[in-house]
Amino acid sequence: MLGKDSHVEEELEKTEVIETARKIVKEGLGPICDNCIGRQFAKISSGLSNAKRGQILKEVLRTKWKGEEIEQGKCWVCNGLFENLDGWVLKALDALREYEFDSFLVGTKVSGMLLENEELIWEIAGASYAEPLKAELNREIGKRIERETGKTVDFERPDLVVLLNLWTEKVELQVNSCFIYGRYRKFERGIPQTRWLCRECRGRGCEKCNYTGKMYPESVEELISSSILAVFKGEYMVLHGCGREDIDARMLGSGRPFVVEIKEPKRRKLDLRMLEDKVREENAGKLEVTGLQYVKREMVAQIKNAKADKTYRVGVGLKTKVLKNDLENALNTLTGAVIEQRTPTRVLHRRADMVRRRKVHSAKLVSFDESVFFMEIKCDGGLYIKELVSGDGERTKPNLSELLGTDAEVKELDVMDVFYNCN
Ligand SMILES: [Zn+2]
Ligand SMILES: [Zn+2]
Repeated sequence: MLGKDSHVEEELEKTEVIETARKIVKEGLGPICDNCIGRQFAKISSGLSNAKRGQILKEVLRTKWKGEEIEQGKCWVCNGLFENLDGWVLKALDALREYEFDSFLVGTKVSGMLLENEELIWEIAGASYAEPLKAELNREIGKRIERETGKTVDFERPDLVVLLNLWTEKVELQVNSCFIYGRYRKFERGIPQTRWLCRECRGRGCEKCNYTGKMYPESVEELISSSILAVFKGEYMVLHGCGREDIDARMLGSGRPFVVEIKEPKRRKLDLRMLEDKVREENAGKLEVTGLQYVKREMVAQIKNAKADKTYRVGVGLKTKVLKNDLENALNTLTGAVIEQRTPTRVLHRRADMVRRRKVHSAKLVSFDESVFFMEIKCDGGLYIKELVSGDGERTKPNLSELLGTDAEVKELDVMDVFYNCN
């Protein structure tokens, strides 16, 4: 330790450094604090705080520079900021009191006056060894908050950002979202995955939407939100799904993967099993969520880009009767087939017109009744089932209507499984 310190002192006692320090003291606009002088040489010696480095420098100056005084008083560079760190820490702790968090980061909005002072001292001393004021402030306040709260500074992905606003002298908090992965099952038809704004009024509310601003009274997103948002004490919640089923399709089997993003939560360490129960009780027979777990933000992009295989259970109505044997042959033809599918007419208004190639892994007959039958299809994600059945005016090839020689139409559609492994 002693060896290290004396090495540091050697570094600081170099003529060039001392000359610059002397210049700062002589040519500055008034007294300067240890932090502010030490910070101008931050890159010369590491392992010391700026305050300690400043102390050493002033000591050396006093010894070498007998007879001349180093002015005492309020620092002209930081305007006394570094003497009042505790005041900022108290403000920060006060702002943080309501929030549950594990990690945080401190940031500073430096005022114009302090920026100008910093420019001035760099004109005198040069900026090549200096650390910016805001970097020191962030670090020093961060260390103190760590000590007071037992939480840790995280540069990568803090739960909260504590922003010291030197213009307003207030502490502002930026509360980062909390992300939860899970799967949902939807037992009722007619519920979209997310809120749909009314096409007429675009959400403002009009006669057509009964002044709700929405096309449908509820959505999976809103149902989950109404059960869990208040528990997290968040501002609002967004659901990111791994694909989406049609509004009139149920989502069964093991459910569809999703990530919910809770914006500005005050709680972020809730018992997720308890939340699963709460959603189940409050949406009995309608909706269920399972396998909830806390995840990182990246998971949103991961599940949104995932190409997950799907299994559907499809009820099909036929215009004219067919033989069971012909039907089975048709399904055999589909099994293993690569379907060329032009963007369905019904989604053309929001999707680019293009040809997709998707594989049917298997197509099995479940029950048969001459003009209505049920089948189970496992296929690549992104295959439109309604069009695979109807043909969509030859836009999907091959298709079931063509193979059977009669118009076939989806009467009922359930998603049975979404093959996606989140780990
Ligand atoms: Zn200062
Ligand atoms: Zn409306």
